Amino acid sequence: MRFVDEFRDAATIRRTCEEIRRLADPARHYRLMEVCGGHTHAIYRFGLRDLLPPNIELIHGPGCPVCVLPMGRIDDGLALADRPDVIFTAFGDMMRVPGAHGTPLEHKARGKDVRIVYSPTDALALAQRHPDRHVLFFAIGFETTAPSTALVLQRARAEGVGNFSVFSNHVTIIPAIRAILDSPDMRIDAFIGPGHVSTVIGCRPYEWIARDEGKPVVISGFEPLDMLQSVVMLLHQLREGRAEVENQYKRVVPWDGNRAALTALAEVFELRPFFEWRGLGFISQSALAVRATYGAWDAERRFEVPGVRVTDPRAAQCGEVLKGVLKPHQCRLFGKECTPERPVGALMVSSEGSCAAYHSYEYRKTVAATPA
Ligand code: SF4
Repeated sequence: MRFVDEFRDAATIRRTCEEIRRLADPARHYRLMEVCGGHTHAIYRFGLRDLLPPNIELIHGPGCPVCVLPMGRIDDGLALADRPDVIFTAFGDMMRVPGAHGTPLEHKARGKDVRIVYSPTDALALAQRHPDRHVLFFAIGFETTAPSTALVLQRARAEGVGNFSVFSNHVTIIPAIRAILDSPDMRIDAFIGPGHVSTVIGCRPYEWIARDEGKPVVISGFEPLDMLQSVVMLLHQLREGRAEVENQYKRVVPWDGNRAALTALAEVFELRPFFEWRGLGFISQSALAVRATYGAWDAERRFEVPGVRVTDPRAAQCGEVLKGVLKPHQCRLFGKECTPERPVGALMVSSEGSCAAYHSYEYRKTVAATPA
């Protein structure tokens, strides 16, 4: 398959790994953060960690939007689902994410009208089919998914669909990277930049990381050779004392981003002054609110949102894992109280969550290899 088979070719992977071993200084420990949850998943799925020399450490970043959402926002959204006229809609990966009073799926089991949609367009279509109900779309995601929400809001306004609104939890990636770099317990040498987000925002928004912080960034694709080539590119920069933004994922990511998507985002959304991130706290200008011009379709303006703040269960260490301070298996609850079947934190639910990825690929491998 084009763009898949050639990026999984065993001989090329072997050669690339030899190049990595040749480039990596054995006297040095490298800490490379993959920002995107899709990359974390690829690392465990393809066993890439096992292919790298032990002095190259991959740190999992905060790029899983479901994982960084604090429990209070889930409770806020579900409080709106309690209204008898509301149909609450969300993507499937939200359904098992726990709030303080249960998951959306558990609310459904209690009789609330909670439904999975595959896109915001489906939610809008549902509103058009049910003019007597109000359809609320629980919007989540980085700049990758925010344009589709923006386009649907434009359509709702153009078509005058009054029984539809969006509860926006869209977040932006650059302030999260800034928060990580400002965090005193983080020591990152370089970044594997997020491929999906960058298809929308392009490469320019990362330039300050190289220029002001002196950290190399390589925007990467998601196949094994994409990621290994990105490591090669980062090692070249570190060896040569360079700090630049490079684009490994040129077949998908335009340097200047997607103009049409950025225009739609700018028309529909504005930056919130502050937004709470799980594990990272309040980060200024890090999330998108619906602009007043689209206020009729903004759930936070139409309804009274309780503004719940909930702390994670005390033993859960989601924050430390999200910041890359702990590896998933180092959390006290990992594989015991917290499993994919009975998740305590969102990182164990989302397919992009590092705990779920580690549990699916690494942990089961370790358990299978342990003699009974
Ligand atoms: S194992 Fe569970 S509680 Fe611990 S960090 Fe992962 S998701 Fe959070």
